[in-house]
Amino acid sequence: MLGAEGYLRIESVRKEFDGFVAVDDVSLSIRKGEIFALLGASGCGKSTLLRCLAGFERPTKGQIILDGQDIVGLPPYERPINMMFQSYALFPHMSVEQNVAFGLKQDGMAKADIARRVEEMLALVQMGKYARRKPHQLSGGQQQRVALARSLAKSPKLLLLDEPMGALDKKLRSQMQLELVNIVERLGVTCVMVTHDQEEAMTMAHRIAVMDAGWIRQVGTPDEIYEQPSCRFTAEFIGSVNLIEGQIKDDEKDFVTIASPAMEHLVYVGHGVTGFEGQAVALALRPEKIQVDKEEPAQPHNKVRGTIEDIAYFGSHSVFHVRLPGGTKLLANMVNSQRWASEKFTWNDSVWLSWGDQAGVVLTS
Ligand code: ATP
Repeated sequence: MLGAEGYLRIESVRKEFDGFVAVDDVSLSIRKGEIFALLGASGCGKSTLLRCLAGFERPTKGQIILDGQDIVGLPPYERPINMMFQSYALFPHMSVEQNVAFGLKQDGMAKADIARRVEEMLALVQMGKYARRKPHQLSGGQQQRVALARSLAKSPKLLLLDEPMGALDKKLRSQMQLELVNIVERLGVTCVMVTHDQEEAMTMAHRIAVMDAGWIRQVGTPDEIYEQPSCRFTAEFIGSVNLIEGQIKDDEKDFVTIASPAMEHLVYVGHGVTGFEGQAVALALRPEKIQVDKEEPAQPHNKVRGTIEDIAYFGSHSVFHVRLPGGTKLLANMVNSQRWASEKFTWNDSVWLSWGDQAGVVLTS
């Protein structure tokens, strides 16, 4: 269960380096217990924003309020915040238990209390039996568990994760993603993570902020971001998408009608924007929303004819690359469990692509 709204408030935060704007007027409100991802390509400003939260950078402008306290003026060590780095930053000469105890010792906690807390934290990350080992005697996944135990030992109000799975291979990464979420949720810790990996953000975070050039382009739950992208940038950044460019022909009560040079028929969209006639828009259509058929579908709109240029096999599904007569290429996915269906098709086949009225989202920017 997520707690109070506005537990962490980032208000109009801006960070400039010698006149270069790395973070541009970012405002976010994060709930207690929420796992929140800052997602974006290299250089978008996500690490700078995280470093402002940690106290390693001071914002040029703006406020950061954590649990009612403005923390902008506080040095990192006075903030009730812990940061787990991609490299884990474990002390190599210290054992696992000494690593976890380090922060507690510095705070002057009593010896017996430290021992109890370290045991509790190592049990939480299932590393109890490795307490005496040194970091170099551990696998990457085990080192990460120790780093997590160390970050959580002081019960921070906010846990910051910098590309938390960056050093792990793909299989271990997906296992650790679920484990980390499980532990963080069990403790109810509020967590802000930075990642460039959309799958990581989608599987771990309750909500995601998509960043680009210092700006937040969209904030939403993983399915909101995927199903209802607000702009071309988000639509293209998350997953694969067909963007069909056109103009609004009619904006009726239940439908927006789009005329597109790529299409023989008008496109109807049952939700999305209200717009004016002639307004340039793009229809964002995910490949799995498109049906591939040999025969012309009976529906009067939302269909187009094309030629299969390529079929890429991905195990669970195949991606059809279909060229339309005007030259536009659309991608359509077909689930391979219906193998008999995808095997009906081959290169150069003429096919019909069709989709439902609710399948696409109209984008104006
Ligand atoms: P990456 O995933 O590569 O770490 P990022 O999205 O986290 O990228 P930032 O590290 O926040 O991006 O950097 C954002 C921009 O700010 C970049 O153009 C970077 O060059 C610039 N920048 C970051 N730190 C400094 C600094 N100390 N001095 C000058 N420019 C900086």
